[in-house]
Amino acid sequence: MVAKPESNKPTPPKCNRCGMAMTALYSILDPRSGKQARAFRCECGERTVSE
Ligand SMILES: [Zn+2]
Repeated sequence: MVAKPESNKPTPPKCNRCGMAMTALYSILDPRSGKQARAFRCECGERTVSE
């Protein structure tokens, strides 16, 4: 059998400042949209939130 990549697994975004993979900080639930948003942080101090 061939292992399939998990589509559900969140991939951390790349930092747009230094290009390193960012680390997940926390997840929050947006009460308005009902969607989960994740905050990521990079070692260089850059932060981003992806929905
Ligand atoms: Zn960075």
